[in-house]
Amino acid sequence: MRLLMANDAAAVLWGAEWPRGQPQEEFLHQHGILLFTPTGQPLPLDDLTGSRAMASGEPVLYRQLVIRRPDGTRLPVMVDAIPFTSLSLLPRLPQEMTPALPSAERVVLVVYQDVSALKEAERLKDQFISLATHELRTPLTIVAGYADRLLIRAARGKEHELDDWQREMVQEMKQASWHLASLTEELLDVTRVQAGQFQLERRSTDLVALTRQVIEQIQATTDRHQLTFHTSLAQLWVMIDSCRIEQVLSNLLSNAIKYSPEGGPIEITLKEHAETHEARFRIRDQGMGIPRVQQAHLFGRFVRGENVRVAGIRGTGLGLYLCRELIERHGGQISFESEEGVGSTFFFSLPCTKAVYQEKGNTLHERTDSA
Ligand code: ADP
Repeated sequence: MRLLMANDAAAVLWGAEWPRGQPQEEFLHQHGILLFTPTGQPLPLDDLTGSRAMASGEPVLYRQLVIRRPDGTRLPVMVDAIPFTSLSLLPRLPQEMTPALPSAERVVLVVYQDVSALKEAERLKDQFISLATHELRTPLTIVAGYADRLLIRAARGKEHELDDWQREMVQEMKQASWHLASLTEELLDVTRVQAGQFQLERRSTDLVALTRQVIEQIQATTDRHQLTFHTSLAQLWVMIDSCRIEQVLSNLLSNAIKYSPEGGPIEITLKEHAETHEARFRIRDQGMGIPRVQQAHLFGRFVRGENVRVAGIRGTGLGLYLCRELIERHGGQISFESEEGVGSTFFFSLPCTKAVYQEKGNTLHERTDSA
């Protein structure tokens, strides 16, 4: 995509003069300008916003990026790219501004908006949430821990026995405080992701054993749902952050339970896909399903199905956002199929990456093989 014309603000935005007629890739390369996603991943040159709109003929709206200028400063921007299928706007512009434009060529209007002030406000808000949740964490863990100990000691019979009503209350306290503790962890994770401070600690892990362990833990929380695990693999060793993948599995299984209030079967399948060197998971339930209108945005923050709100099932709408982030950071993908009133199936994949890791700057060198 080459530049047809730009206003004066463009030079300030890029920190360099982009001459008319120069392709964008060449301009960026010449000045060492880099583009990043908000979470700090470098944007491939074949995914430039204007080129994307040009290729698809569809507008690309509200895309958030960060520009690293030639002097190293970073500018967060919101980008809109609107392709013109008819060039009706152009005849009204002075001739010298639209030099020799072949009529068949598509023109894209790209608007970059400096969102530094908004990002700063967002950063302060995230910092506040992060501080508040950090501070909440300790007292919460203490309350939850003591409730736990009280129940255990009373059950051992060495101390005073608890009456039934007392035991029930302490049990409630314990559950509520663990629930709060996991909510604060979820919020902390989201603020870490937003601030680009999310690190994976990959270790060689047997996915089959990990999955069995998570299923066992989750099965222990319900007797109205039957969790079954289908796999022909005895083991599957991969380089993953096992805590984070456990978090994803727990989240998807807890959702399958939470959103199947009538109970029912939940099937977990794990396969190794030899051609793509991937581990593929499928988690299927026969629960409430997800309304069509919410499906397109379900991996966004705070997005929840209308049906679950109506049913009064509580949640934050942050779990799937984190799941996607975690899976994509591992180089995998997550998706789902769902029909309201019939059930949902979540799919995710993980590359079967073997233990060859050298950190070189920001580049991670990985060897992929399926053995
Ligand atoms: P939460 O469960 O805290 O609301 P999530 O991000 O985990 O947050 O899920 C977002 C929404 O996706 C849920 O509120 C629910 O509407 C929908 N959802 C997720 N999993 C399922 C499922 N297995 N069945 C039906 N709806 C689901």
